[in-house]
Amino acid sequence: MSYALVWFKRDLRWQDHAALAQAAQQGPVRCIYVVEPELWLQPDAALQHFEFVRESLQALDAQLRLQGGCVEVHTGELPEVLSRIWQEAPFRQLHAHQETGNGFTYARDLQVGAWCKAHGVAWHETPQFGVVRGLKNRNLWQPAWEQHMAEPVQDVGELRFWQPLASTPDSAWCTPTHMQAPAHLQHNPPLRQRGGRPLALATLHSFLHARSLGYRGGISSPLSAPDACSRLSAYLAWGCISMREVVQHTRAHLAQLPPQASRHRAGLTGFISRLYWHCHFIQKLESEPAIEWHNMHRGYDGLREHDFNPAHLEALKAARTGWPMVDACVTMLRETGWLNFRMRAMLVSVAAYPLWLHWRPVGEWLATQFLDYEPGIHWSQLQMQSGTTGINTTRVYNPVKQAQDHDPHGRFVRQWLPELRQVPDAWLFEPWLMPHTMQAHLGVFVGSALAQPVVDLTPATRQAKQRLHSRRQTDDVKAAKKAVVDKHASRKNWGTQAGARSTPSRKATRPSADNIQAAKAQRGFDF
Ligand SMILES: Cc1cc2nc3c(=O)[nH]c(=O)nc-3n(C[C@H](O)[C@H](O)[C@H](O)COP(=O)(O)OP(=O)(O)OC[C@H]3O[C@@H](n4cnc5c(N)ncnc54)[C@H](O)[C@@H]3O)c2cc1C
Repeated sequence: MSYALVWFKRDLRWQDHAALAQAAQQGPVRCIYVVEPELWLQPDAALQHFEFVRESLQALDAQLRLQGGCVEVHTGELPEVLSRIWQEAPFRQLHAHQETGNGFTYARDLQVGAWCKAHGVAWHETPQFGVVRGLKNRNLWQPAWEQHMAEPVQDVGELRFWQPLASTPDSAWCTPTHMQAPAHLQHNPPLRQRGGRPLALATLHSFLHARSLGYRGGISSPLSAPDACSRLSAYLAWGCISMREVVQHTRAHLAQLPPQASRHRAGLTGFISRLYWHCHFIQKLESEPAIEWHNMHRGYDGLREHDFNPAHLEALKAARTGWPMVDACVTMLRETGWLNFRMRAMLVSVAAYPLWLHWRPVGEWLATQFLDYEPGIHWSQLQMQSGTTGINTTRVYNPVKQAQDHDPHGRFVRQWLPELRQVPDAWLFEPWLMPHTMQAHLGVFVGSALAQPVVDLTPATRQAKQRLHSRRQTDDVKAAKKAVVDKHASRKNWGTQAGARSTPSRKATRPSADNIQAAKAQRGFDF
């Protein structure tokens, strides 16, 4: 009996799953997840991602088993896995969500497309966010986002599952519980969020009904942010809940708030803007996949590449920059897999300006640290905070001022850096200024227990800004700015802007199937 194959990727849920719903309309379904060894070898992969996927698949599998099905976990590269399944029990339809992933998934999807064509299999790729494949320009992007979010949440309903015949050869697959993490994978923070749709729904519920009261005013400080922020990012990034579900539940909750709940209302309105940014940023990578490796504004090429100081990156990774707010954030991130937006921006700003590090190696490291790693948001934000988009205001965060503003009593710094607990407030954020007699009195010395700042903050930041601004002033850089604005900038007067240029889409700029090797080779980052 023929069936439709549903390929789960970063969409590990059973409700509002367009690919599953479409497949179910065709007849029996067979659900697979594929552990692709090469995908997990990419520099942006981490053990925490794999474990989160496993937990999410376990929840998905448990749900499907209630209806007599399961999710099969196959291991191998695509499209070989498809060939294996097809030889054992041919299928005519492959259903999956569109993925705006990294260079590896981009090239792999080309191969899957070519395989489907060669085998007469219809591949249905459905959007899962408000991201538009083949977008001509940004003018009508916002209405398209609104339309996607307003469509009814798809109830997958009762599923019929494919049943192997007695004569069907045994396919080599396992259950999510038995999936093996590749041995080389590292980094699984002990305090990270756990995966699965039930936890995603519980997180949304606690946010809407209680925690969002603190969203306005609470999201910038790393002390209040872990509670005040929604904490939905990992669930959205791995697809345990759909963006449409989050938008619709939030709007419904907003609609029933009393008029006097103005603070709560303002918080939830701000939250919805961020849901919109989610897709706005992913659209940038969808429209221009090269921004994973290249400066969004090519006029900034060569700015930092040749000055890369590996010792600076190592100090940052080891939480030994000497700036307590930075080192505390790196420590929290290492232990929890999460950090709020403001502190992520500060980390990248410190890396990009006083430490003068190129965004690509910093981003590779941070991708493994963030449980919610989402390539489209990640690389766009890395570039924005490093000043290489050419269209955003330069934002340089001073880590001492950030500490004074967002951790005035030093609770956050002392929580994550125990070696600073005894240091009096006067020197907590600048311990290198502490008199030697005080260091001796406390038994903590700058240069041993406490790291010496990697560079002198003020002159290093000043010099970095000068270098960036002098590049910005060149005629070539100014002239090329308009093209970046046309392609990537948010539109103020939606739908009415005349003369906006056509944006070459991911589809339009895709290399042909013959160029898969070229696309793969492009993955490497060369300074
Ligand atoms: C350098 C850098 C890298 C980042 N990398 C990622 C990443 O890989 N994955 C990721 O999901 N977010 C990333 N962000 C954006 C942001 O920091 C996180 O989305 C947010 O901290 C997640 O916590 P939350 O879900 O509680 O956020 P909330 O404030 O509750 O926001 C709700 C949702 O809106 C989206 N969102 C929030 N802020 C932004 C933003 N500035 N840009 C785009 N979408 C946003 C996210 O999907 C988030 O889950 C990055 C930010 C920076 C500065």
